[in-house]
Amino acid sequence: MEQNTRMCTGCGRQIPVEYNVCPHCGRPQNAPQYGPAPGPQPYGQPYAPPQESLGALKYILYLVSFFSIIIGFIMFLVWNNDPNPEKRHVGKNCLLLALAGIVLSVLCSVVFFFAGLAFM
Ligand SMILES: [Zn+2]
Repeated sequence: MEQNTRMCTGCGRQIPVEYNVCPHCGRPQNAPQYGPAPGPQPYGQPYAPPQESLGALKYILYLVSFFSIIIGFIMFLVWNNDPNPEKRHVGKNCLLLALAGIVLSVLCSVVFFFAGLAFM
């Protein structure tokens, strides 16, 4: 008879009991506690509204510029005193990175200052 089959918890069709996954709809058969049909799970936080994403972008840009300044200056101080001229050259590039971070932070301040005024 049909003793070796059972009803799929997903689509209701008869499938062999040894099947862990339904061959018709793909639903796992050994974990009925999964609840309703498997679908895309919500990813915690809903999509941020534009103003909050602007704030997040601002913080990210500030963080990037801040770390590029710090790391650039530290690398410059460390490498610029190295006897190896190749490393001193790298140190000067790190100083450029720090300067780029300063420029980036200033630009961010100006842009977001005016953007803040524009959105008020
Ligand atoms: Zn099924």
